[in-house]
Amino acid sequence: MQTLQLPSKREIPILGQGTWRMGEKASQKQAEINALRLGIDLGMTLIDTAEMYGEGGAEKVVAEVISGRREEVFLVSKVYPFNASYQGVIAACDRSLSRLKTNYLDLYLLHWRGGIPLSETLEGLQYLKQAGKILDYGVSNFDVDDMEEAISLPGGDGIATNQVLYNLMRRGIEWDLLPWCKQRNIPIMAYFPVEQRAFINHSHLKAITQCLSEAEIALRHNATSTQIALNWLLRQNNIISIPKATNPNHIRENRAALDINLTEEDIKEIDRAFKPPSRKMSLAIR
Ligand code: NAP
Repeated sequence: MQTLQLPSKREIPILGQGTWRMGEKASQKQAEINALRLGIDLGMTLIDTAEMYGEGGAEKVVAEVISGRREEVFLVSKVYPFNASYQGVIAACDRSLSRLKTNYLDLYLLHWRGGIPLSETLEGLQYLKQAGKILDYGVSNFDVDDMEEAISLPGGDGIATNQVLYNLMRRGIEWDLLPWCKQRNIPIMAYFPVEQRAFINHSHLKAITQCLSEAEIALRHNATSTQIALNWLLRQNNIISIPKATNPNHIRENRAALDINLTEEDIKEIDRAFKPPSRKMSLAIR
């Protein structure tokens, strides 16, 4: 699996697996465990979870998946903003570690910005890093102004990544956040990479044009539209992506998406159908 370097110089795989909506239903648990295990076997060893997902349920699913193979996995979890005070983030991390049945996280993120001063959260994250409970820390759903503020604070220069919504259909971060992060060698973790076309109103001409264009490119590469959307993200050199899939066919497809080679012509076609931003847009949130 290809990797990117975090500012700490540690390597992070560019393609991983999300876990949102996992750990919510007991009847789904085994399928979720099997799915994540298959993904790891195929090389998608980065697992992204959060205390929020299933209110700890997703972390418990992940614990079963990584049991006996912790060292193979790059494990990411996130703290709720309302738990992100100095003492709160330390306690929340301990709870996550205990649910995950491990003694360290590879990366720990502030899930989104809340009312607690960032300086306090960063102090807690630095403590956790010094204690060896987390190897890196970062943020999520931060726009440029939040990032500017964060890096100006003590510990802000240790921010390893910013996890934000980014996909072909929502390219707003290309206006400012993406170049800002690139300039500082801070990789972006793209969530919601597989925007569900089902939600689009297909009577809308723009959506039809987009779907057709994606489908044509997919046909040329003997791939699916979703794989094209995923490859388009992964071919950029500052992006990590974490699609969530429980269906084994989806998992195999997501891994195979890495191997597609989009041509310059494909990229031009994509840019015509899915236009890059021409002005500042507010940060998209799932
Ligand atoms: P996503 O990964 O873009 O979409 C998940 C959906 O896409 C599932 O319904 C899945 O179906 C389907 N899917 C996956 N691979 C597919 C394929 N190859 N072909 C067709 N359908 C496919 O959306 P997401 O779960 O919202 O985002 C990914 C991860 O990012 C989350 O799981 C979570 O870890 C993280 N996230 C973070 C934040 C944040 O605020 N930081 C917010 C949202 C998400 P099946 O499950 O049936 O396979």
